[in-house]
Amino acid sequence: MLTTDRIYVGGQWTAPQTSDRIAVENPYTRRTLAHVPLCDADDVDRAVHAARRAFDSWAATDLAERLAHLDALRRELTVRAAEMSALITSEMGAPKTVADRIQVGLPLTVLADTVAAARDLAWTEQIGNSLVLREPVGVVGAITPWNYPLHQTIAKIAPALAAGCTVVLKPSEVAPLSAFLLAEIIDSVGFPPGVFNLVTGTGPQAGEALAAHPDVDMVSFTGSTRAGSRVSEAAAPTVKKVALELGGKSAAVVLDDADLAAAVRAVVADCMLNSGQTCTALTRLLVPQDRYDEAVALAAEAARARRMGDPADPATRIGPLASADAHRRVLDHLERARKDGAVFATGGPDAEVPDQGYFVAPTVLAGLGRDAAAAREEIFGPVLTVLGYTDTDDAVALANATDYGLSGAVWSADTDRALAVARRMRTGQVAVNGGRFNPSAPFGGYRRSGNGRELGRFGLEEFCELKAVQLP
Ligand code: NAD
Repeated sequence: MLTTDRIYVGGQWTAPQTSDRIAVENPYTRRTLAHVPLCDADDVDRAVHAARRAFDSWAATDLAERLAHLDALRRELTVRAAEMSALITSEMGAPKTVADRIQVGLPLTVLADTVAAARDLAWTEQIGNSLVLREPVGVVGAITPWNYPLHQTIAKIAPALAAGCTVVLKPSEVAPLSAFLLAEIIDSVGFPPGVFNLVTGTGPQAGEALAAHPDVDMVSFTGSTRAGSRVSEAAAPTVKKVALELGGKSAAVVLDDADLAAAVRAVVADCMLNSGQTCTALTRLLVPQDRYDEAVALAAEAARARRMGDPADPATRIGPLASADAHRRVLDHLERARKDGAVFATGGPDAEVPDQGYFVAPTVLAGLGRDAAAAREEIFGPVLTVLGYTDTDDAVALANATDYGLSGAVWSADTDRALAVARRMRTGQVAVNGGRFNPSAPFGGYRRSGNGRELGRFGLEEFCELKAVQLP
């Protein structure tokens, strides 16, 4: 039985200060799965002190030994992958195929890649008469969202622990159960007490207490732009390092020489992945104006083909949204789009959906102006907005016309032409002609999609301070 009524502090499962609990609901069955502690600032303080006490000795531990712990974590997580995948499906509704391949498969890859990056990193280098040392930044507060709960956590704690930092994790209150299983695994592989700590609770209470804590040296946050901005404010008085991975409204630019049908199919699949709850989702399809109607019809057909249903069924492509709140938010966006004159080429708020669970039908919005909310704001559900452009300059301007800058894509028969457009996009990632996600490449956003980078060497370096020692 998974422990969920206590928090993991200093290598022990301990009772929180309060007896208040948060119910965790299965978004498909709408049944309560478990209750987790609603931690307050005192609980956060205890966890931060445990991490602080563990820091000096973990930072001084040989790199090889720290990496051996991460290898052991990867092996044990591999053994328990099916259990972890089913738990994530039950807590946030990811279809089983996505849960196996991405929710659990990707963090396993990230663990291996982080270990490799740490082995290869130049921890010491000489610049003139200076010895430049990379040292762990200190105690890290990690605050994570519900959409890829394990991946977002591993993308922070693996590089932090590899670098020699100690961690206090505050997972999302919507999907915290995978963090309890992760803590159990970390405990079983024998990390020294206090190196990893887990507290649960709400963002405004436990999250802000962690971000504001004077003994936390860095806060690494993934979530909405609104909460990320609050985290920065809470962290500012103590001038700690803040890394933010925030929202997106990513554009797929299909150039006039591209195979339109192939591009649209790929964009719809990307947009609807994880039931449309992916920060990098390509949620704006930008097509030449003279092929607009054709593109809308192709997108609607591809969206309709995505089967909704029980997320545990391997044939399901669209599961329920993660929570009642997420469901309400997405439906509100669709009502707003209707008022703004959208045509629902497929889906929409009135479309038929399974009668249990928080489903929104895969939706394609057409006929919207560029300034409409659904053309600019993150919806975070299975919703694609199709927009027309006049020429390549117009496509680039439209791609860049949101506050976000997380990801994007370009499609063309000519890779060089696509690459030229990719260079002009103000985003942290761009996929050319369906280029695959690379878990070793830097991941992060321009503008209001955040600051800092995760994954691979660049992600590891975020958790390092630089010290220059001037030699005589
Ligand atoms: P959210 O911002 O509501 O919550 C994320 C985390 O922040 C949770 O742990 C929450 O408890 C905490 N939090 C909320 N308010 C806080 C506050 N005032 N102070 C401190 N912590 C606070 O986001 P969500 O709904 O869980 O996740 C969806 C959002 O996350 C989307 O906007 C999505 O684009 C974004 N996201 C971004 C990335 C990325 O890497 N860029 C990845 C996944 C999700």
